[in-house]
Amino acid sequence: MISLVGAGPGAADLLTLRALRCLQRADVIFYDRLVDPEVLAHARPGAERIYVGKAVGACDWPQERIDAVIVAAALQGKRVVRLKSGDPGIFGRATEELAAARRHGIPTEIVPGVTAASAAGAALGRALTERGETDRLVLATGTCRPGDDAPDWGAMLMPGTTLALYMGVSQAARIEANLLAAGVPDRASVEIVSHASGADQRIVTCCLGTLARTVRRQGVENPAIIVIRRPKGELSCSALHPLRRVG
Ligand code: SAH
Repeated sequence: MISLVGAGPGAADLLTLRALRCLQRADVIFYDRLVDPEVLAHARPGAERIYVGKAVGACDWPQERIDAVIVAAALQGKRVVRLKSGDPGIFGRATEELAAARRHGIPTEIVPGVTAASAAGAALGRALTERGETDRLVLATGTCRPGDDAPDWGAMLMPGTTLALYMGVSQAARIEANLLAAGVPDRASVEIVSHASGADQRIVTCCLGTLARTVRRQGVENPAIIVIRRPKGELSCSALHPLRRVG
């Protein structure tokens, strides 16, 4: 059995009870770079722990190698936990791992986790959807596969939308330029939450028109979620955050 388990955004007490049960039954745990050591501390003491994270800018563990090692462990009869940050089904390369398991007839399960966008909303103390204002929540990534078509930025952030961008910090200048070119007002409110739920959690607030500059000047660190709010009434960011504006 291979269990794809969501580790949540960082804080160990945001693990689900089901995730905890999997960790306590596992023979071997393959975990990612963003999985907090506090979460791993809940694993069965005898469980083998194997880091399969991708170093930033490098590829120590290409996806095919991860697929191969988790399959090999399961074929030895081990209870395999593939522990991924947040929710395994959101920007987690789960499809490749599920397909590899299924090719070998290995049973799989997905244990959902608290995704980073939810933790970012909680950090902001505000709902990601607000009735009548933002009736749509879009989860998107700032980093697509090399060679893929550019996303339709205008469609992503129509009035009435909250956009939560994963892996966006290094792309801040491109995201700002593309959204402005798609007609999103430069006053649209932006909140960047780094290390959501963790001890180093930090919130930086600005407007779309100053996104890239703010990320640079404030030294915003990864992991971070960029939350951009475009309500139906198109309120300006200074109206939303009269005291917290930065950049
Ligand atoms: N499966 C994960 C996402 C993995 S992609 C989930 O559901 O949350 C990695 C990206 O997730 C990071 O680049 C960052 O954008 C976001 N992320 C993960 N943990 C985060 C955290 N604690 N705070 C803010 N963003 C986080």
